[in-house]
Amino acid sequence: MTKIKQLSPHEAQKIAAGEVVERPAHIIKELIENSIDAGASRITIYIEESGKKLIRIVDNGCGMNIHDAQLCFNRHATSKITRVEELESISTFGFRGEALASIAAVSSITLLTKEPQTLEGTKINISANTITECEPSSCNTGTDITVNNLFFNIPARKKFLKTDQTEWRNILLLFNAFCLDYPHIHFTLFSENKQITNCPSTTTLKNRCLQLWDQQSNIHSIELQKQNYDECEIEGIISNHQHYRYDKNGIHFFVNQRWVKNQQLTNALLRGYANVIPESRYPIAAINITVPTDHVDINIHPRKEEVKFLYPKKIDQALQQAVKTALEKNLSTQIKKEVTFQTAHTNPIFSMQKSESSFKPFNFDNFFEKKDSTPFFMQTFPINTSVANTPTIPEKQINIPIQASTTDNFESTQQVKNFLHYEIIGQYKKTYLLLEKEDGLLLIDQHAAHERILYELFSTRFSDVATIQLLFPPIITLTTQEIEILTPHFDLFTSNGIIIEQCAHNQLIIQSLPVHLKDHSINDLLIMVIGWIIEFKDIDETQFKKTLHEKLHAQMACKAAIKAGDTLSLEKIKQLLEDLDKTSNRFSCPHGRPTGWLISINEIEKKFRRKQ
Ligand code: ADP
Ligand code: MG
Repeated sequence: MTKIKQLSPHEAQKIAAGEVVERPAHIIKELIENSIDAGASRITIYIEESGKKLIRIVDNGCGMNIHDAQLCFNRHATSKITRVEELESISTFGFRGEALASIAAVSSITLLTKEPQTLEGTKINISANTITECEPSSCNTGTDITVNNLFFNIPARKKFLKTDQTEWRNILLLFNAFCLDYPHIHFTLFSENKQITNCPSTTTLKNRCLQLWDQQSNIHSIELQKQNYDECEIEGIISNHQHYRYDKNGIHFFVNQRWVKNQQLTNALLRGYANVIPESRYPIAAINITVPTDHVDINIHPRKEEVKFLYPKKIDQALQQAVKTALEKNLSTQIKKEVTFQTAHTNPIFSMQKSESSFKPFNFDNFFEKKDSTPFFMQTFPINTSVANTPTIPEKQINIPIQASTTDNFESTQQVKNFLHYEIIGQYKKTYLLLEKEDGLLLIDQHAAHERILYELFSTRFSDVATIQLLFPPIITLTTQEIEILTPHFDLFTSNGIIIEQCAHNQLIIQSLPVHLKDHSINDLLIMVIGWIIEFKDIDETQFKKTLHEKLHAQMACKAAIKAGDTLSLEKIKQLLEDLDKTSNRFSCPHGRPTGWLISINEIEKKFRRKQ
């Protein structure tokens, strides 16, 4: 008996469809691309149940006549190429004639379409690739396509759809990318009949960013002026050194007006930011790269999301250079302003971050990679120009293995049995507590120590933490997308004494806080949590919750802890040491920095050659 059976074209099509349409966002991408190829200047997107129930795209493009409308669902039916050789010079998104066939194989579609020169249009219903209705219909010029009940005939694939929330996030990312890619197109997005974003047509990318990005992102954005680098043109908008995200979702590349995901481009961008933003932080960027069409292969990915360059190194260099130059120029104007006027520069972002953790001054020496010659501003301004008002960046805040550090001269504080048994000498540089005992001299980092105390309080004894109802509850404005991401996780905050309510489509109100945080803005905390939610979304649920809690506790502790530079009374120091003694891991802060160092009397005596 033969085992091999030829699948019917119908079944084969259902399987093949998976390549192009794995999830709602992929379908939306194909349909928007078709609308753009049709020359639409207005595209409206309606979504229900994150696309699982309904996706509807309405455009005012060229439309189709009744014959094309019937043909467009056939496999390999395209109006865009007739021969493979044309691929090299293709400027449209589509060319394979696969998308509509694939979508129609796994859903029920209603198509309404009309060409401008005709009075009457066409309506077609097609389900699982079979046309059930085709008739003349009155409709607007353009195409209105509705995809219902995705994967209704392939339960196995339906099962693999992610939660509504994840699918919705992918849709938003995609929508943002198209908006940035085509500022002149009027895009509107509706979900469950509610308007989510409306971006009227505009002439510049800058204006589109103003429509799309939150205020802080816009304040801190700088332009990459259009520039030609050896057959590669680069222009765009990027964030400056003072603003960054905790995930890569703010980075968009468009190659010849196609949104692409390309790790190499991301790496080149990040190299441009080397030593400018902290590690594990990512800029915001919308960058258009234009190369000759025969220098890029767009046909290497089923959904055309990735591209391959003929000369990748050239583009890498050009991008890195463009980013560095823009950051350099931006920083030089800022420094000039500060040096000339000697004004106290209070930037909302700086002041927000300053209260957040221990900081190191912005390191001008590292601003450029070491191989660069003397940075240009060192030639213009004296090296000892006060950096007091210059940007500061937070120290690395990711969790590194917790261990107490040792060096040649210092012994580990692990030997220290009890901090309270030490005699307090005082505070050094308002940052370190100096303690002594016969076995040596002990230095304690006051911020790291307090962070450890609060971290353990928040994570293990939260019932001991007082929370207060705020008399003037602050209102925090975020983007609608950020709110969408955050809302399902309000319980994370509630269980940590932060009561948040939504008061408008893009605003949250903070009703109460743990007493330790009452004087702190928690705007940046929310932004960080959003970044973590995105970053850790793919790990399993229990681990995800645990990670979010741990990170939130560490960040709350960091925010509320006393800072380097705070003067402490003797009473306060004693209290701090007493509390530190009670913690279970008193030798490092939650971010892994040591809380203290013991310089043994042996070491001291050896140094002064009192002892061999
Ligand atoms: P491709 O875009 O690769 O050609 P598709 O399956 O996406 O393949 O579309 C098939 C054809 O249907 C297109 O080539 C185009 O002629 C027509 N078409 C699809 N969507 C639209 C639209 N929104 N407006 C006008 N024509 C469209
Ligand atoms: Mg197409």
